[in-house]
Amino acid sequence: MAAKRRILIAGNWKMNGLKKDARSLAGALGTKMSKLKAKPQSKPEFEMLVCPPAALLGPVVDAVKGKGIAVGGQDCHANEAGAHTGDTSAALLKSMGCKYAIVGHSERRTDHGETDAMVKAKAEAAHKAGLSAIVCIGETLKQREAGRAKSTNKKQLAGSLPAGATAKNTVIAYEPVWAIGTGKVATPEQAQEVHALIRAELAKAIGEAEAAKMRILYGGSMKPGNAAELLALPDVDGGLIGGAALTVADFWGIAQAV
Ligand code: PEP
Repeated sequence: MAAKRRILIAGNWKMNGLKKDARSLAGALGTKMSKLKAKPQSKPEFEMLVCPPAALLGPVVDAVKGKGIAVGGQDCHANEAGAHTGDTSAALLKSMGCKYAIVGHSERRTDHGETDAMVKAKAEAAHKAGLSAIVCIGETLKQREAGRAKSTNKKQLAGSLPAGATAKNTVIAYEPVWAIGTGKVATPEQAQEVHALIRAELAKAIGEAEAAKMRILYGGSMKPGNAAELLALPDVDGGLIGGAALTVADFWGIAQAV
């Protein structure tokens, strides 16, 4: 029997928003979640997560307290503490009230030269601090057009997967780079093909039972209009959402598609 995995709807706010925007977006989502939870016999079938910029973690944690929305960091350093100006440790994220840390987003891989080995070390630091790591992988358009989508994702997964990964402490996000912020979405066939490959590779790395339970998110121009089709795919267990996570209507619209 196929494992039942709880859908994760995760918003990556990237470097967007000021304190007032963060408060108002998180507050409005919190109100919607509270109303949903208050309905008789209604346990949301999805988990909601918001990942604001590091400086806005405090106000966002406060705004969603008790509302059933998790908060996460967009990155963490591989070291526990020390001389790393501008960086954020996983322990600090945890102490702020975070449950998750995104690691290896393609924008970090590109802007900060993060390698698979660095991503793996960051995910392991997240675990050590008691956070779940959302490990991002995905091919570029050039790699896809060269017929290397599968091999690229296989290699990135093997290199970025933290030691001791379990379905509880790790989530994989498949984010084709060509679909991030471009309005181009992977077709259901393209998404399912890579998600199934990831699950098969996970089975080899951590065992079939754990792989069957691990959530694999799709990321790349997910919107209310395409979410239902993507979230219905057998190996898609949620979304990592950028642009559409910045408005209540779009982000909630995606959650409603679950
Ligand atoms: C992302 O940044 O992880 C992302 C998927 O962005 P967008 O939804 O805007 O494509």
